Amino acid sequence: MKYLDEFSNPQLAGVLLERIRESATRRWAIMEVCGGQTHSIIRHGIDQLLPETIEMIHGPGCPVCVTPLGMIDKALDIASQPGVIFCSFGDMLRVPGSSKDLFRVKSEGGDVRVVYSPLDALELAQANPDRQVVFFGIGFETTAPANAMTVYQAKRLGIKNFSLLVSHVLVPPAIAAIMESPDCRVQAFLAAGHVCTVMGTREYPPLAEKYEVPVVVTGFEPLDILEGIRRTVIQLESGRHEVENAYPRAVAEAGNPVAKQMLEDVFEVTDRAWRGIGVIPRSGWRLSDRYREFDAEQRFAVGDLQTAESSICRSGEVLQGLIKPHECAAFGKQCTPRNPLGATMVSSEGACAAYYLYRRLDLPAEVAHA
Ligand code: SF4
Repeated sequence: MKYLDEFSNPQLAGVLLERIRESATRRWAIMEVCGGQTHSIIRHGIDQLLPETIEMIHGPGCPVCVTPLGMIDKALDIASQPGVIFCSFGDMLRVPGSSKDLFRVKSEGGDVRVVYSPLDALELAQANPDRQVVFFGIGFETTAPANAMTVYQAKRLGIKNFSLLVSHVLVPPAIAAIMESPDCRVQAFLAAGHVCTVMGTREYPPLAEKYEVPVVVTGFEPLDILEGIRRTVIQLESGRHEVENAYPRAVAEAGNPVAKQMLEDVFEVTDRAWRGIGVIPRSGWRLSDRYREFDAEQRFAVGDLQTAESSICRSGEVLQGLIKPHECAAFGKQCTPRNPLGATMVSSEGACAAYYLYRRLDLPAEVAHA
C-alpha cells in the first residue's frame, strides 16, 4: 500500500494542479479513454480540482459497457441451454440484454457461474467432461492475453468441452472512430496504461500524427492522472501532437512480447460492434482459424438474434463523451446500480456508476435522493 499511497500524495497533487493551472491559457477538452481512469478522476474529485479551462471527457474504455447487446443476447441464449455451464466475471451478470440478464437466466435454472479467471472455467471443463463449459471473453487488450492462453491450453490438453464466447475490442480503432465523429470535441487523449503494458506504445504515433492529437500514456492513481493531464496541456499549448509515456513504471515501448505473441497466435483482427456506438472496422479480435473449434458462437450456432435496446438509455452518447451521465434524464431515477437500464450503470468501470457512486450529493435533491 505504501507504494500506491505515494501516488496519492496531496502535496504533490497540489503542485501538479498548480502547474496545470499555470500552463492552461485557454480551454482544452481531454478524453481519458479508460473507465478505470474515469473512476479515479470522479472518485478523487480531480475534474473538480482542475482549472475551469480543462474539461475531462469520459471515453469508451469500459469493457463491460461496450460489449454489444447482440453478444449479451448470445450469452443469454447459450447460458439457457441444457448441459451448459456458462462462466463469466461477475459484472456481466447484471448487464441488461434485450429481455433479461444472466442473473435472470440463473434464477430460471441456468448454470451460470462467476469465475475469477478463464483458467477456472477450463478447470470446470476438465472436471465436468459431460457438460459444455463456456467462458464469456470480453474486454480490451488487457484481458485478452489470459483468454488467449486459456484457449491455447485447451487445445494443447485436448479439452473438447470448453469454448470461448469472444467479444474482445481494441483501443486504437476506437480512438480513430472518436476522432472521425463529426461531433468530436476531443483535443487530446490520456491513453490507458494497462492496455499499453500489453501492447506497448507503437500503435499510437500514427494516430497522433493523422489526427494531430497528443496522446499521453497514463496510469490510474491520482498523481498519474494529474501528470498525464499536465503533459497533455503542455503539448496542446505548444501546438505539439506526440505520444508520451507518463507511466514508465509499467509500460515499455514494445509492450509485453510474450503476451503479444500469444494474442497473435490465437486471435485475428475483425470488425466489432461496440454497444451504443456501432460497428468500428477492425476494432476487435475473434479466434483465428487454428482455434475456431473453440468458438462458442459456432459451437452453439447462435446466429444474429433480434435485439431491442432500451429507448431511454443514452449510454452510447456517454461512451462517446457527448454527454455526462447526469445529463441523462433517467440518471438516478429510473436508472440506478440496483436497477440499471444500461451497462454504464452496471460496470465497476462504467461512467454512470462512477457518477452515481461519487457524485450524487452534487445533484439536485430530487435526483440525489431518488
Ligand atoms: S444513467 Fe442509465 S439510462 Fe442513462 S445513460 Fe447511464 S446507464 Fe443509460
